This record gives sequence, C-alpha cells and structure tokens, in this order.
Amino acid sequence: MKIVQIDKKNWEAGLKKAAGTYRLYGPVKEGDFHNFKQLHQGQLPDLSCLNTRLSPKSIIYPQTEVMFEYSLDENQEDHHILKEANKDYSPQAVIGIRPCDARAFGLVRLNFDTPEYKDPYWLKAYEATTLVGLACDAPCSSCFCTTAGCGPYHEEELDLLLVENGDQYQAKVITAKGEAFVADAGWKSAMDEQAALKEIEVKKKAAEDKISAFVETDNLREIETNDLYNAPFWEEVSFSCINCGTCTYVCPTCWCFDIQDENRGNSGCRIRNWDSCMYPLFTLHGSGHNPRNTKLHRVRQRFMHKLKYYVDKYDAGIQCVGCGRCIRLCPVNIDIRRVCGYMNSFAKSADACEV
Ligand code: SF4
Ligand code: SF4
Repeated sequence: MKIVQIDKKNWEAGLKKAAGTYRLYGPVKEGDFHNFKQLHQGQLPDLSCLNTRLSPKSIIYPQTEVMFEYSLDENQEDHHILKEANKDYSPQAVIGIRPCDARAFGLVRLNFDTPEYKDPYWLKAYEATTLVGLACDAPCSSCFCTTAGCGPYHEEELDLLLVENGDQYQAKVITAKGEAFVADAGWKSAMDEQAALKEIEVKKKAAEDKISAFVETDNLREIETNDLYNAPFWEEVSFSCINCGTCTYVCPTCWCFDIQDENRGNSGCRIRNWDSCMYPLFTLHGSGHNPRNTKLHRVRQRFMHKLKYYVDKYDAGIQCVGCGRCIRLCPVNIDIRRVCGYMNSFAKSADACEV
C-alpha cells in the first residue's frame, strides 16, 4: 500500500490542481454548523469540524432530484414523452469525509444496486465520485462506530485516507481512484511504507480507545422477528417522539424517497425527494388506509428496519454506522443505542403484546 506525505503548505495548491479535474466538495461552516457543499474556486474544505450536521449522502443522492422532464404541449413532436433529465456525472471528489459516512455508502448500495434492480442515478453519481477520507482523532462522545462495523480509521468505501500528523497529512492510497486523485493533485512524496503504517496503527488504536459509546448487536439475528415486533418496549420508546423526521434526514444510511410529478404550464418534471418512514403520509394508501397509522408503528419501523430487517436480509450487520447524528439531533433524546440494547437483550416473555 502506498503512503504519500502531503505537507500542509502544499495542500491548497494540490486541491487547486485537482479542481481542474474534479468538482470538489468539502465541509463548510454554515452558521453554527458545518455541512458538505461544493467548493467554489479557491475555497478550502474546513477540516476542523468533526461531523457535519447533515451527512454527505446528498452528494450522491440529492434531497431533490429531477429524473425525467416532459412537455404537455401537443404542438411539440415529443409531447407526453418522459425524457431523461440532463445531469452532470463528471468526476467529483468529497474531501474530508469521515470513515463512518463513507462506509454508509456501502450499506446503502445494497438497496440501490441489486441483481434485479439498478438505480442508474445513484450508481452513476457514485461511480463519478472519489472519497478522500479524514481519520478521526477526536471522536464525539456520541460516536459508537467501533461497535457498528466501522471505526475512526476505517477504510471501506474510501479511496484515500488522510491521517493528520502535525504539519503534514499522511495519505493512505486505498484504490485506483485514490491513486488518480493524488496524481491529479500533484502530491508525489512517497514515504517509507512500513514506518508510516506503524505510526498510523498507533494513532488508530489511540482514536479507537477514545470511543466509549457502544451498541450490542450480537443477538439481533437470533431473536424472532415477530417477538421483537410485538415487544412491549415500543410504547415507551415511541412515547416522546414527535415524528419530526430529523433522525432519518440526518442519517447517512436512510434512503427512503417519494416520487412526484410537478407541472408548470405545459411542461413538467418527475422528481424524487427524500421521504421519511417517520411521517404518516409516507405509507398512506390511495384508499385512505394507512398500515402505519400510529406513532408507535412508525418508530418501530425505523428501528426494526435498521436493526432487524436489514440485518436479516443482507447479513451485513446493522444499517447504521454509529455516526451519532440521530442521537445528537433528536429533539426529545431518543437514543438508538438504548433501543438497540432493548432489542438485543429482548427475550420473549409473557408480557409481550400485540400492537
Ligand atoms: S428525531 Fe426523534 S422526535 Fe424526531 S422523528 Fe426521530 S425519533 Fe422522533
Ligand atoms: S441511525 Fe443514527 S447513528 Fe446510525 S448511521 Fe443513522 S444517524 Fe448515524
């Protein structure tokens, strides 16, 4: 594995060079928070922030995305025909993505890229993207990545991992895309691989040791789905939820969407928007029937999907990377670690009830 040493004084010039090939995205301060934004010419990513408020999932999977356009004007030859919207799939790079957010793309991929169905928009955007990760040396108190199949130096889905080291970054080249990015940025100074890897291992261990929050997931597969579904704790878990949907919008592994047609005069477009299982309208049928018509149903769905259905269906761990956003931002302090604990330790008892 190649490790490239980047002096911080060459960082800006390298990004400037890379901007000739890639559309660059990175964390940018917005008010009191950071979010991933496309960087304008000469703008640097702010790598001082640990976690952005929203995850970077929108770079691959926009919150609102035009899929098709159409005309209803019968004077036009192609009226009433859906035409694929023009999109930009030129190379883009996400600078300073955290390992948890990168791994989330791998979990989500299982939904957008199946043997039967391929989501062309997600796949083309993903293919065009290079993920330049930044290792976390000071994780938040709500981060629990190490027990969610990830970690502060986790490399899955990343093309390049930057490790901060005083006046330098040590850049671990993970894929061919990462190699190309380093070349496009003109960063050339290779390091003694063995010595650098040793140093990185020490830093990795120190970062992992700082993470004290955790989830227990070892029993989730074994517990009967119906038993968990009918467990009595859902009443308590859902009691304070206000169905605001924040937890799903900020989550890098939530993927639900809604598709709508929007007309203006004689033209229109078909768009897809992020949606949330926490909203009553999400499952409302045309008949007026709603199979998840109570708050308890919806809260249970969110946790059952992430911590049981996904686990059983894909055998790829939980549908969560432990970024902690839903814990930090839930206005009523509903905590996925606590709910996961209830689920993982649940043993069917006489007080299990049907809801
Ligand atoms: S953020 Fe909290 S209150 Fe809002 S929908 Fe999620 S669990 Fe409910
Ligand atoms: S469920 Fe919560 S902790 Fe897990 S990935 Fe989503 S936002 Fe992060």
